[in-house]
Amino acid sequence: MYLVIEEPHCPWCKSESVVEIDMKSSQRTTVDGHLRRWNAAPKLLRCQNCGLWIKHPRPTAAELQEYYSNVDFSKWENPGLYPNERKLLSILQKLPKDSEILDIGCSTGRLLSRLTNSFECFGVEPNALSATTASANGISIVSQEDLTAPEFHERFAAVLLIDVFEHLLDPRSVIESAISCLRQDGLLAICTGDTGTQKFRQEKARFWYVVNEEHVIFFNRQFANHIATEFPLTISEWSNISHYDSNSISRSLLMYKRWLYRTLQHKSTFLRLAASLFPGARKARRWAHCPPNNLSADHVISVFRKQAQSR
Ligand SMILES: [Zn+2]
Repeated sequence: MYLVIEEPHCPWCKSESVVEIDMKSSQRTTVDGHLRRWNAAPKLLRCQNCGLWIKHPRPTAAELQEYYSNVDFSKWENPGLYPNERKLLSILQKLPKDSEILDIGCSTGRLLSRLTNSFECFGVEPNALSATTASANGISIVSQEDLTAPEFHERFAAVLLIDVFEHLLDPRSVIESAISCLRQDGLLAICTGDTGTQKFRQEKARFWYVVNEEHVIFFNRQFANHIATEFPLTISEWSNISHYDSNSISRSLLMYKRWLYRTLQHKSTFLRLAASLFPGARKARRWAHCPPNNLSADHVISVFRKQAQSR
């Protein structure tokens, strides 16, 4: 699926000053060895100019488009809201009544449909089936290209990118368009994984969020600060939060499953035999990969406020 690109560069700032992420936390000695074992070919790079973490090589736009045209979008559906969405909802509910809100990648309108009684809601959604459902949920669907029209310039009180940033091959075009259609004093909310969080820093290229083949770039505070110096934005909210709901029982169960999977793969025959006596071992032997370590506060809700332009 991956195309080899000779010269790695940052998809945000175009800098070629990109370095492989240090893997000191790994017992293995090289980044390559680590990635070959855990994540096939791609490496994880960091831009020294803007701080963005980048998968390299990344799929091409055509490859990603083909992937998304075949993917089952229902895997992103959830009858309730995820913790990051609930937190964002509480921020949006404080906006003045009748404000206009744009959600880029609105899916079926799972978040916006809870706001249509108070606000005018707009969404960008490339998947036709999801867009039809969003429309039926009271959301006005527009295309990414529509956003360059004068009628959308400095129009919205809030523009949302929820679980979208990490999928972007060309983040600059989407973020610039989001900022341009945001009114002065409006809010740009980016909810995504945060490379500054503990598990992300520990596991780096092995982390479930990086291993996910749809994810190509990774956000953090340094990058957010970089955006806020490049555009008239201030950071008004930075909250780390888990993407998924969990409790002490589900987190303990996940730790147990991860331990069981790894021990069943251990080079020591004694440990493998001992682990095979534990509950769930027969099932765990058939797992294709270790259960993802995805219940920690590895996401961020970052909210930027657009400043009034100085005269
Ligand atoms: Zn960069």
